[in-house]
Amino acid sequence: MEGNAINILSGGLGTDLFINGGYDEIQLNNDPLWSARVPYQNPTAIKNVHTRFLKAGSNVITTATYQASVQGYVENLGVTVEEAEQILRSCVDISKQAVKDFGGSRKIIIGGSVGPYGAMLHDRSEYTGSYIDKVSTSVLKDFHRTQMKILVSQGVDILACETLPAFKEAIVIAELLREIPGAKAWITFSTKSGCETSHGENLREAFQTLSKYEQVVAVGMNCSSPEQVLPIALIAKECMAPHQRFIAYPNNTVSTGQEAKLAWDCIKDIPSWLDTGVFSWIGGCCMVTPEHIQQIKDVVQEWESKN
Ligand SMILES: [Zn+2]
Repeated sequence: MEGNAINILSGGLGTDLFINGGYDEIQLNNDPLWSARVPYQNPTAIKNVHTRFLKAGSNVITTATYQASVQGYVENLGVTVEEAEQILRSCVDISKQAVKDFGGSRKIIIGGSVGPYGAMLHDRSEYTGSYIDKVSTSVLKDFHRTQMKILVSQGVDILACETLPAFKEAIVIAELLREIPGAKAWITFSTKSGCETSHGENLREAFQTLSKYEQVVAVGMNCSSPEQVLPIALIAKECMAPHQRFIAYPNNTVSTGQEAKLAWDCIKDIPSWLDTGVFSWIGGCCMVTPEHIQQIKDVVQEWESKN
């Protein structure tokens, strides 16, 4: 999975739901479950998102579980714990079905999305990490454990632990992996500065600490400005362990709404990112559409043919 070939991730799942899936952007963003309600109400809509990204050239799709959690489903859908766990399992099944129906000979990797605790709070603290000092390590562990175990046992290839605003939560996740033998994960932070997590911890120290975890096979960034990709890749290059590779899937920060179908100017910078030699995973996050993923795939293929 972590060879030299570069894996092409998907773009924004929520983004595609409103750009190509007929969902209303504001309604979706105001939902306390965000896109995590959709697999419960309309599994086909999620499967169609996966299919659009697969057709665009992704070989990695990510389950619709970023803002999903047992606690969130119980509180917002009024379901039992068992029913909430079943919805989480169904999210993996939707991804598997999309891969199966897509067919083809490409090996498709299913990432099981694990979002930060703050995503469940739905108060935008997921982007600042402002909750992190108020929530104990044991509460964070209990929150993430169930979801991580369910995603792995249901058959995801890798846990996509993403948009983490704070170092403390990344360590909680890395430690939890030890309870799930055989599980692998990528861990990506959000950042505003390019040298610190959104909550302000030094990324160099974060990557150095994460280098000690065998099950963490990729570290990097997502849901942040593309301008931060290169500085973070260079930090990671110095700090990653030999078993680890770099991953980046930034936001499209230049356009909104239907405009997001237009060109994404950072795509021209991708060869210079890849020249760092640390990448095995690249894609996009918010406002990144199947059109952009196709452009990313073309640029990556051209780069690979020369290198
Ligand atoms: Zn994002």
